[in-house]
Amino acid sequence: MTQDRHLFLAEPHGFCNGVRRALDMVENALAAGKSPLYVLHEIVHNNFVVQNLRAKGVLFVNDPDEVPDGAFLVVSAHGASPAVYKKASPRLHVIDATCPLVRKVQLAAEAASQNGESVLLLGHADHPEVAGIVGHCIPGTIDVLSPDTDWTDFVPEENRGICLLSQTTLNADDVAAAGKLLAGKFSSVRNGAEVCYATRDRQRAVRCLAKQVEYMFILGSSHSSNSRRLLETALKENISAKLVDLPEEIGGMELENIRCVGLTAGASVPDELIGRAVKRLESFGFPLVAPEKG
Ligand code: SF4
Repeated sequence: MTQDRHLFLAEPHGFCNGVRRALDMVENALAAGKSPLYVLHEIVHNNFVVQNLRAKGVLFVNDPDEVPDGAFLVVSAHGASPAVYKKASPRLHVIDATCPLVRKVQLAAEAASQNGESVLLLGHADHPEVAGIVGHCIPGTIDVLSPDTDWTDFVPEENRGICLLSQTTLNADDVAAAGKLLAGKFSSVRNGAEVCYATRDRQRAVRCLAKQVEYMFILGSSHSSNSRRLLETALKENISAKLVDLPEEIGGMELENIRCVGLTAGASVPDELIGRAVKRLESFGFPLVAPEKG
């Protein structure tokens, strides 16, 4: 076995405040006997969290129409469009777990749209957070620009101011670059695009950790936007990295010639999984050194 092996943990990692808040709201509703309890979409994008809640009797739906009269419906941390609330209320008891930072983007989009601006939203069109933000705008006043495609030739409607916004969990550098580019191209751009602090801080921690390690594991589900961005961030730093949903997916073989390994976790990953991943890596001979500070 290779000697002098070490495990470094990125700081911060794991649950953000918005995820904690949403899960607390679900747990509190369960504890208060609010049943049957439905959640619109996944409460957060993590398979382990969702399966645990299913085991406690929580039911997940894609539309308020699937929920019977008088039941409790939790809107996930990703938020929803006003049309969803309209469908749900007053027929259902709505518990709104929208992250306040997502809500901030919804309100900014809504205000810009109502003020006659064209809203450009950097984001993934199929993500529930993006669908919710789009739903806050007057139809025809918002365009979603995927950060994965070349949108630099985008031509906005003439004679309208542009309000640039962003999904909260994109790559912070991509969003900053997009803002700079669009502001340089169109004088009428009002740039309000930024990722949330939790996303930004976890990406910064990965860049910092990448300087110390040869291989990094990112705990997170493959459909979690912020976890995927952590993987991309690590790969951009030219180290090997892997996104794993569960600690048991971490294998000893891939670490054969590795001396320093790093570990981080997306904002929707619970401490329990992080603890299990640390134990697993320690069992492969990588003792945890100390969390990396900021
Ligand atoms: S990642 Fe950011 S926006 Fe999403 S729940 Fe966490 S704090 Fe809120």
